[in-house]
Amino acid sequence: MEQYWSGSAINKNKGMVENLQNYGIIKSRKVAETMENIDRGVFVPNGAQPYIDSPMAIGYNATISAPHMHAICLQLLENYLQPGMHALDVGSGTGYLTACFALMVGSNGRTVGVEHIPELVSSSIKNIEKSAAAPLLKDGSLSVHDCDGRQGWPDFAPYDAIHVGAAAPEIPQPLIDQLKPGGRMVIPVGNALQDLKVVDKNSDGSISIRTETSVRYVPLTSKEAQLNGDK
Ligand code: SAH
Repeated sequence: MEQYWSGSAINKNKGMVENLQNYGIIKSRKVAETMENIDRGVFVPNGAQPYIDSPMAIGYNATISAPHMHAICLQLLENYLQPGMHALDVGSGTGYLTACFALMVGSNGRTVGVEHIPELVSSSIKNIEKSAAAPLLKDGSLSVHDCDGRQGWPDFAPYDAIHVGAAAPEIPQPLIDQLKPGGRMVIPVGNALQDLKVVDKNSDGSISIRTETSVRYVPLTSKEAQLNGDK
C-alpha cells in the first residue's frame, strides 16, 4: 500500500486534488474536475480527516479507499465514463466513486451502485444527496441498490465501465457477462496478495486482462463472512 502524503496539512478537497495532480496520479483535467466537484469530506465518517491519503473505516468491516486509489480507478476508467455511458460500481460503500461516475456519464448515462450492507446503501444515498451528484439521484440516472454485487445488476447492462471496490478471489462471471464489448472493468483480484486488474472486453467479445498494480482491498464476499471478519 502506498501513501503519498499524510498529516493534516491538506484540509481542503481542492488541496487533496492538487496533491494527486502533483504526484502524477491525476493526469487529466476531467478526473481533476470530477474530484474537485465531489467533495470527499461529504463521504467520510464524521470526525475522520477526509483529505489525507489513507483508507478509512466506515463500519461493517468496510473502508473508504484512499484518495490515490479512487484517482487511479477514475483515470483507468475515464474513457469508459463519457457522457451517456453506463457505469456499475460494485461494493459502492460510501458512494464516493458512484457519485464521481454519475457526474462523468451525466443524466443521459446510467450509473448503478450495488452494495450488500443495507445500512451503507442508506448512508451512501444520504452522502450523495449532499454532493454535486444529488440531481442525478433525483432524475433517476443514478441509483444504489442493496444486493450481492457478485451478480452485478443486469437491468442496465451492458456496462461501458465496471468498477469493483472489493477484492474477488476470481473475476465473477456475471460481471464479465455484463461488460459491453469495447468496455472496461477495473477489479482487485486475489486474497492476501491482490492485483488491480484491468479487464477489457474486445469488440469480438474476447477478454484481455492486465495487472495495473498491487493493492489491498477488503474481500468481495458474502455479507455473513464480511460481518464475521473472515479473511
Ligand atoms: N469503493 C467504496 C467502498 C469500498 S469497501 C468506497 O470507497 O467507499 C468495499 C465495499 O464492498 C464494502 O462497502 C463492502 O460492504 C462491499 N462488498 C463486499 N462484498 C460485497 C458483495 N458481495 N456485494 C456487494 N457489496 C460487497
